[in-house]
Amino acid sequence: MVKAEGIIIRTTDYGETNKIVTLYTKEFGKIGLMARGAKKPKSELSAISHVLFYGLCLFRKGRGLGVLYQAESLNPFRSILENIEITGYAALIVELTDRLTEDGLPSQAIYHLLKDTLLLMEKGKDPAVMSAIFAMKMLPQAGIDPELTHCVRCGKQKGRYRFSIVEGGYLCDECAPTDRYAIEMSGAVQKLLPIMRLVPLERLGKVSLKAKTIGMIETIIYAYYEQNAGIKLRSRKFIEQLSKFRTRDP
Ligand SMILES: [Zn+2]
Repeated sequence: MVKAEGIIIRTTDYGETNKIVTLYTKEFGKIGLMARGAKKPKSELSAISHVLFYGLCLFRKGRGLGVLYQAESLNPFRSILENIEITGYAALIVELTDRLTEDGLPSQAIYHLLKDTLLLMEKGKDPAVMSAIFAMKMLPQAGIDPELTHCVRCGKQKGRYRFSIVEGGYLCDECAPTDRYAIEMSGAVQKLLPIMRLVPLERLGKVSLKAKTIGMIETIIYAYYEQNAGIKLRSRKFIEQLSKFRTRDP
């Protein structure tokens, strides 16, 4: 029997009464656990076997699936779960974690990034900004870390750049013709991308951005994931539908 801190990043129904939960733990990385009876409303496991559960879990590790026995919440993430838009952004974070990690390969860095991003969102930090920062910081994990400090072709370190998905990062004005699909960025976006990628999360908590700026950043990041890593996030679609109702300043 093992006790470990973790966050549930996915659940799947299994039969009439059970669920399989995918838990991302600090000590063991991603693991699959059978939560017996979790679909029965009266079961002790039904209250905890949901995506974004964060707590101390008691389980038995198996060669394939383990078994979840009990869990004790460390933070119910009430503010996140009570707001459909914030839940959507949190869903994007856990989906990305699931897609970019393998079973049983622990990473303290990923665990802390996941937990800290969710805790900051729970405290009221902008969920769009937080999930974009998370996605930027996971790029090396996807094996597609873009060049954001100089031109990816000629190395030029100053001036305006476009973002080239094909070339993998910034392209200066002279090199821009090599990729006619290179995305034009505002000065703010050009400055923010390397900051989001490189500056530690705890120092980025105060970032507040105009809707246009964060919108452009999201477009670039998710197009980059899709075209260079083949990752199209289901939760992104949900957020796009919700964004029609965004109330922030344009
Ligand atoms: Zn260049």
